[in-house]
Amino acid sequence: MKPPEIIRLTPGKRVLFLTKDPDLVRRQLRGELDLRMEGLRVEDLLDDINTDAMTPAWVCFSHRPEDIARDAYAGLIVDGKRLFERDALINGNFEVIVSGYRKGVGSSRETAVQAEKWSGIRIAVAASFAPIHARNNISQGVLMADHEMLKRLQAGEGIPLEEFCQGWDPITQIVIREGGLFPFSKALAAGEIELPKPDTGPRPMTMAEKILARHLLSGGEGPPFDSQRYVKPGDAVVVSVDGGYTHEFTTAQVHYFLEQEYGTDYVVKNPGKFAVFEDHLIYADEVPKMRVFVDKIETLRELQREFQRHTGVRDYSAKDRISPGICHEVAREQFIDPGDFIQATDSHTCMGGVNNALTWGVGATEYADLIHQGFTQVEVPESIRFELTGKLQPGVTAKDLMLYILLNHARPQATLDRVMEFTGPGIATLSMDERATLTNMATECAAKTAIVVADGETWRWLAEWRPGIDVERLKARAVAPDPGAEYAGGVHTIDLSALRPMVAHPGDPDRGIPSDPTNGAWIDEIGDVPVDIAYGGSCTAGKIDDLIFYHQVVKEALDAGFKIAPGVRFMIQCGSQAVEDFVRRNGLADTFERAGVQLIHPGCGACIGCGPGVSETADEVTVSAINRNYKGRSGPGKLWLASPLTVAASAFTGRITAYEPGMFARMASERPVLV
Ligand code: SF4
Repeated sequence: MKPPEIIRLTPGKRVLFLTKDPDLVRRQLRGELDLRMEGLRVEDLLDDINTDAMTPAWVCFSHRPEDIARDAYAGLIVDGKRLFERDALINGNFEVIVSGYRKGVGSSRETAVQAEKWSGIRIAVAASFAPIHARNNISQGVLMADHEMLKRLQAGEGIPLEEFCQGWDPITQIVIREGGLFPFSKALAAGEIELPKPDTGPRPMTMAEKILARHLLSGGEGPPFDSQRYVKPGDAVVVSVDGGYTHEFTTAQVHYFLEQEYGTDYVVKNPGKFAVFEDHLIYADEVPKMRVFVDKIETLRELQREFQRHTGVRDYSAKDRISPGICHEVAREQFIDPGDFIQATDSHTCMGGVNNALTWGVGATEYADLIHQGFTQVEVPESIRFELTGKLQPGVTAKDLMLYILLNHARPQATLDRVMEFTGPGIATLSMDERATLTNMATECAAKTAIVVADGETWRWLAEWRPGIDVERLKARAVAPDPGAEYAGGVHTIDLSALRPMVAHPGDPDRGIPSDPTNGAWIDEIGDVPVDIAYGGSCTAGKIDDLIFYHQVVKEALDAGFKIAPGVRFMIQCGSQAVEDFVRRNGLADTFERAGVQLIHPGCGACIGCGPGVSETADEVTVSAINRNYKGRSGPGKLWLASPLTVAASAFTGRITAYEPGMFARMASERPVLV
C-alpha cells in the first residue's frame, strides 16, 4: 500500500522499544508499559540485532509471512527462554519497532522483515541498518527512520514522506513512495511512473560497471548488447537480468508472493536461464534437532516442485534423494556465462563472479519481482581491486588468501558493499576452482560481490565443462577493467608468495569476541588446538581441486602409515554430482575409504547445520573448510575456518596443523623406533 504523503502515528497503535533491559521489553509486550524516546538514550537500546534472532532458521521452514510473524524474534533468548513468546509481537498492537545500531546484521534473510511487517510494523527505527536488511525493508514497504524522527512522531508531528526517502538513490525513492517493490513494478508496467534517465558520460569503467552499463534499461530504449553506455557508482539504474536461481529454503516464498501479486496463472519472463535447486535441506532428516520439522521441509520441497512445473525453470531437484549439487557450484559449472548479470536468493551467489559475471544475492521479494519482470533496479556499487602477483607457496591455498583479505581488508570495512575485483598476473597461477573460493567468500567480506578477470584458463575450463559451447561468443561478452577505472576502495597489490596458512578463530564469548570469519590468525601462532571434527565441503570447499587437496594429504598420510587421529571424525562432502563422479572415477574415493573418511553425497549439509559434521555440544572443536563460522551455524561447538589442506592435515594430527608437502613422511622418520 502506498504510504501517505505525511506520516503520523496511528491513534491507539503502540511503539515497541527493544531495550537492553529485557524486563522492559517483557513489560511492553504484556501491555504494562509504553515508553517514549524522550525518556531513553540510544545506548539503552539493543544493537546488532541479528536476523537469526528475528527469524531463526527453523522459523524459515514456514513460507507464509503470516505464519513467520507468529514467531517473530523467536531467536532472542534470555536466561534460556524466549523473550518473545509465540504471537507476542502481533498481540502487542505495535506499528513502530525501535532498536540501536546496525539493525538486521547477519544473514540476508528477508523473513526478518516479513516477521515484523506481518505483525503490524510499518516503521522500523534504528540508529543504523545493515545494508541488505535496509533493502529488504524497502522491498516490503516498511519505512525506516531515526530516533530524532521518532521523537517528533511521538510528539504528534506529521513528517513528510520525503524525509523517509532522504539518502536513497532516485529509483529507490520511487520504490519507497510506491510502498514497496511489487507496487513499484506494477506502476512501472502501467506507465504510471517515469524513471530518471541515466546520463553518465564516457568514463573508464570497472568490470562491474561495464556489465551493468551493458544491461541498462532505463529510459525504455532497450539494451543492444554492444552499445556503449556508461554508469558510475551511485547511479540508480534499471537493468535486465540474464538468469538466477532459488533453492528449497526460498522458492516456496517466491511462488507464494507471485501468486499473491499476479494470481495463480502468473508467468515468468525468461525461464530458460533461471533454476531451482534442492541442496540446502537435503540431509536435514539426519540431524536430530531438525527431525521435528520434516513435514515443513517436505512442504517446501513440494512447493518448489510446483513452482518448477508452473514456470518451466531449470530443474535441479534431487533424484533418489541425491542432490545434483550446491546451487552456486552447479550454476557456475553449467550456465553462468561471462558478462552475465545473475541474481539468486542466497548470499553466496557472488561465487558466480569467477566466470567473469556479475552475480549477487537478493531477497525473495526482489527475486520474485525480477523473475516476473525480467529486470531489476540497482544502485551502481563502488569497487575495490585486488591485484594479485606472485604464486602461492606449496601448502597455501586460495582459502588462506581469503582469510588474509578478511582480516586485513574486510575487518576494517574496506570491502563493505563494494565489488571486489581480482586481477593481476597472480590470477593465472590459480585454477578456476581456486578463483571460485575468492568470489565465494566475498559475502563474508560484506562485499556486494566479487568478479575475476577472464583469461585463457577461463576459456579452457568453460570449454571443458560445457563441450560444444561457442567460446568466441563468450569471449566477446567478457569484461576487463579500463585503464583509469576508479576504485573507491583502492587498488591493493597482494604478493601470493608471501602468504602463509591461516585460520579464522571462533572468538572468545567471555571477552565479547564473537566467532567471525574476519578473526584471522597465522596457524604457526595459535598454539595447540585439539580438534574433534574435521569437515571438508560446502560451496567454498567442495570443488574438484578441493577434493584433490584433501586427497593429496590423505594419501600422503596413509602412505606414511598414519591414521585419522583417535576421536576425530573426518567428513568430506562433494559440491556437486560432477565433483563426486570425478572423485569416484579417479580413485580418490577409494583412498578416502581406506582412511576411514566419511564421503558424503553433494549438498549443503553441515555448513548450514543440516547434515553430518555438525557439532553436538558446546565443547566440541571443529576445523572446517566452509566459509563462515558465525555462532551456532554448524552446531553449538567452536568452529575454526581453514583451508582444505589444513582440515585434512589436522584430521590426522588431531590438532590444527598447517600442511607441508612431505610432512607425514618426515614425521614417520622421526618416530622413535621401539626395540
Ligand atoms: S554450502 Fe553453505 S554457504 Fe554454501 S550455499 Fe550451502 S549453506 Fe550456503
